[in-house]
Amino acid sequence: RKLRVGVIFGGRSGEHEVSIASATSIIEHLDPNKYEVVPIAITQEGRWLLGAAPQRLLAAETGQEGTVLSESLAVTLPGDPTVGRLVPLNQSENVGQALEAGRVDVIFPVLHGTYGEDGTLQGLLEMAGVPYVGCGVLGSALGMDKEKMKMIFQAVGLPIVDYLVYRRHDWERDPGPILEAVEARLGYPCFVKPVNLGSSVGISKAHNRKELEQAIAFAAEYDRKIIVERGIDCRELECAVLGNDEPLASVVGEIIPSNEFYDYRAKYIDNRSQIVIPADLPQETAEQVRRYAVQAFLALDLSGLARVDFFLQKASGQLYINEVNTMPGFTTISMYPKLWQASGLPYEQLLDHLIELALERHTDRQ
Ligand code: ADP
Ligand code: MG
Ligand code: MG
Repeated sequence: RKLRVGVIFGGRSGEHEVSIASATSIIEHLDPNKYEVVPIAITQEGRWLLGAAPQRLLAAETGQEGTVLSESLAVTLPGDPTVGRLVPLNQSENVGQALEAGRVDVIFPVLHGTYGEDGTLQGLLEMAGVPYVGCGVLGSALGMDKEKMKMIFQAVGLPIVDYLVYRRHDWERDPGPILEAVEARLGYPCFVKPVNLGSSVGISKAHNRKELEQAIAFAAEYDRKIIVERGIDCRELECAVLGNDEPLASVVGEIIPSNEFYDYRAKYIDNRSQIVIPADLPQETAEQVRRYAVQAFLALDLSGLARVDFFLQKASGQLYINEVNTMPGFTTISMYPKLWQASGLPYEQLLDHLIELALERHTDRQ
């Protein structure tokens, strides 16, 4: 029989809609001769819905359907009777029901950000004993925490930009010493970010003390921990990694943001940011990026996939590793699949390979 692939999407994070876009592409491209898709939606409130098509979920949530969420989700996808049955799952039973024996053979968690990309869902899937695509608990958690990620990069000798981390508690008690320390060590411009997030949510570039104060207060709305980094004038390079114990790196791509930096608007709203594949780089630089990408993947104990992002300082030519994203954007025009496409692996085959890697990893851990 066909392999049943549970595609989990939506979720309680700021990247809910990005997830829906990624899941739509994935569901469309999973080969119907090989797979039976079981869509599993998570609403913004954290309710699990079995058999909700991504586009319907979005339409219902944005009110375009003009109907109650649960009713409008009761749709039938062609060819699959189980998909049409809407089952709003009870909080306490949600996981058990969605993952009920035989319902799915493997889960594809297409969630970005907190409660999905950060190891929480992965822990649940480990407990349930279901194979899943992508990184495990530790790798996912490290990929979401910009401080711990940098500590590990540093430990294995990967070049990172200088940074400081503060707790919201300390900021609220006495901002003075924090402002002074940032100015003394990092200077302006600097980047202020919530430690645990993605999609540039909560991130600002500060050019002076007033902006720094606002930036820290803003980031503190999203997280208890705030990271401040030296701002560098750079090109942004990205590399896709795929595999488990012998990960492979794709060709290198470049992002040319439409704004002063690659903020949320530039990522998802303006549609004017450009992607260049392969990036126009000296061969040694591209090779260095690919080596660092694999090194980072192994150092953080990642598996399946990750997009590894870099800064190339314009003035010095110095390469810095910025971050990994363990569930990168996955529409057909997203960087991760496009990098593999350009490396000779088309979207459909990339999905096949990710599912094979999930099953392989599951067997390895038995
Ligand atoms: P996210 O996980 O939200 O994508 P990033 O750390 O990648 O967070 O930051 C988002 C964007 O902000 C980057 O793509 C880049 O444009 C800009 N940026 C972040 N940190 C720096 C830095 N230290 N120097 C220059 N630009 C930065
Ligand atoms: Mg990120
Ligand atoms: Mg980023």
